[in-house]
Amino acid sequence: MNISDLNIDELTDYMLSIGEKKFRARQIYKWLHVSLVTDFSEMTDLSKELRKRLSDECMITVLKPVEIQTSAEDGTKKYLFELSDGNLVESVLMRYRFGCSVCISSQVGCRMGCRFCASTIDGWLRNLTPGEMLGQVEAIQRDCKERVSHVVVMGTGEPLDNYDNLLAFIRMLTDPNGLNISQRDLTVSTCGLVDKIRQLAEEKLSITLALSLHASDQEKRMELMPIARRFDINETVAAMKYYQRTTGRRVTFEYSLISGVNDRPEDARKLSVLLSGIGAHINLIPVNPIKERDFKSPSRQAAEAFSALLAKYGINVTIRREMGRDIDGACGQLRRRRLNRKGI
Ligand code: SAH
Repeated sequence: MNISDLNIDELTDYMLSIGEKKFRARQIYKWLHVSLVTDFSEMTDLSKELRKRLSDECMITVLKPVEIQTSAEDGTKKYLFELSDGNLVESVLMRYRFGCSVCISSQVGCRMGCRFCASTIDGWLRNLTPGEMLGQVEAIQRDCKERVSHVVVMGTGEPLDNYDNLLAFIRMLTDPNGLNISQRDLTVSTCGLVDKIRQLAEEKLSITLALSLHASDQEKRMELMPIARRFDINETVAAMKYYQRTTGRRVTFEYSLISGVNDRPEDARKLSVLLSGIGAHINLIPVNPIKERDFKSPSRQAAEAFSALLAKYGINVTIRREMGRDIDGACGQLRRRRLNRKGI
């Protein structure tokens, strides 16, 4: 059994099933998720017998950093981790004035096929377990020795395509017995699985939901994102409205600006119509060009002009500060480079 995947209730059931007291669960959870120990022998307030039993019956998920890149420009750190089965995932640490934010992956690879994204090129291999998602935050906290205050699920993978594990991860991440990160400080980004967005709304969580929109109409979105063939753009935006109404949490929209593709004045106008009445926030991200595709990032002036036009139409907009440009900053680039080097 992998003990890092168990939430506090499951850990409690396990303790009771082996004749231990209930409070042992909380002790173990704290060792794993607050002290961040990697071995049962370090759990010094448990009896020797219990430690022995745990090491006979359980594994702890420990993500091994195989490469760490640090940006000389802004201190952003990109981690490549090896999982116990040898698969690789990447995560990013960003330092802001408000604290440390970690961007994690939710799957090994991705099957959504967005045209501009490096994570999807080699396809999908498997889902990450709750312990492996949490393990990325914990391994980074162990390395940087600062408290991680914010988490964004915006790395490789589609989180809503790994729904049950995502939910289990959210509950563990925000558990007061563990890292105790507030749900308000967690953002989940989706390419738009409409049925799952609606399901998530019913969970009544207070996390922030971001939609990767990237186009102002259905036709252009279908060109860039295969998911648009399954769910129409209007239906997708309606699901985001539903999420906002049901949870009371403001939603955000991600829009990667691609020169000559989705940054025309016409796009700004259509976007403002599409999103009217939501009071939503749009994050503009100049596309991070990947060598496998011929997409170009607009100039700073062009991005600013697009932003100003949206603001004129009454849309709340920011151009996302690009972090870690000098390292393999775009989703999936670091892992892909490593796989290529290994000849996989
Ligand atoms: N699958 C989820 C989360 C992972 S991608 C989603 O689609 O939202 C995180 C964000 O990075 C998404 O908005 C995605 O569209 C964007 N992205 C991927 N590759 C990019 C690139 N090369 N340049 C800019 N943004 C990119």
